[in-house]
Amino acid sequence: MWADVLAGAAPQRVSGPLRWPFLHSHPHDDAPAPAERETIMLDPQPLQQVAGKAPPAAAIPVGADTPWAHPRQPQRGATPETRAAACAEYAAWIAGRADLLRAARCELAGHDLACECPEGPCHRDVLIDIANPPADPLDTGTSLMGLTVNCPAASMLLVEGFLGGKTAVAKTFGTDYRGPVAIFASPRINEREMQKARIAGLAADWHAAQRGWLGTTVLVDVHQVHGQCCTPSAHPVSVDGTPLFHWVFAHPARLALPTHGYGFAGLRPVAWSVLIRRSARIHPPAKDRS
Ligand SMILES: [Zn+2]
Ligand SMILES: [Zn+2]
Repeated sequence: MWADVLAGAAPQRVSGPLRWPFLHSHPHDDAPAPAERETIMLDPQPLQQVAGKAPPAAAIPVGADTPWAHPRQPQRGATPETRAAACAEYAAWIAGRADLLRAARCELAGHDLACECPEGPCHRDVLIDIANPPADPLDTGTSLMGLTVNCPAASMLLVEGFLGGKTAVAKTFGTDYRGPVAIFASPRINEREMQKARIAGLAADWHAAQRGWLGTTVLVDVHQVHGQCCTPSAHPVSVDGTPLFHWVFAHPARLALPTHGYGFAGLRPVAWSVLIRRSARIHPPAKDRS
């Protein structure tokens, strides 16, 4: 290991997807856009470990054959969508493992974490955030976006489409972002969605009663609504002259227990730790709550 360091072989640092410039805010959201978190080299970094070789100096390996391994690690060469889905699944899984959460905070805090995955979504991102939880998980984030959705649609987004769940929501704005999205259920009830849930044979009242951060899913496509594009029945293509966009989701991962906190307008970076705070006491400005 030291031979590598002395030979000047710098460990390969991989940046999280939110280093990419694609942040989009809701046009009516007058809250100041959160600044992209500035990382410095002293912050714990996600690193790539070359298969069969020692991890980069001072990094803790979290890949295969470690206590932190992903139980369903995506195969080598998996698409970014599959890797994002695996990341979301890991976050929901580890949120229910109090033993690993405690151990992560004790053993991984302050360390770079290495996995064999190349740059892009990897469970090392989730672990870095859990081990070094930010003071305000709604104000920062390195590889996850948060979205507030009304009831029961929020909970329905976390049911697989083939089981009658929801795979698309219509919004008045689009985004270039594709990747994991944490879903926050707002208290607003949408009666049309209640009707749809009942028609799908789902317990609409139970889904409508879900509150807080419910889990994660993956935003895989955004397109302008055109008639019957995502549903058998024609969908309105605009609201008051504003065109509507379908946000298409796949690979839902639901938390065993929701966590509490506040939602917000628009799509924003959040930390994976929104999923592990059972009662986050976060008080943003009143206009920012939903
Ligand atoms: Zn990995
Ligand atoms: Zn569509």
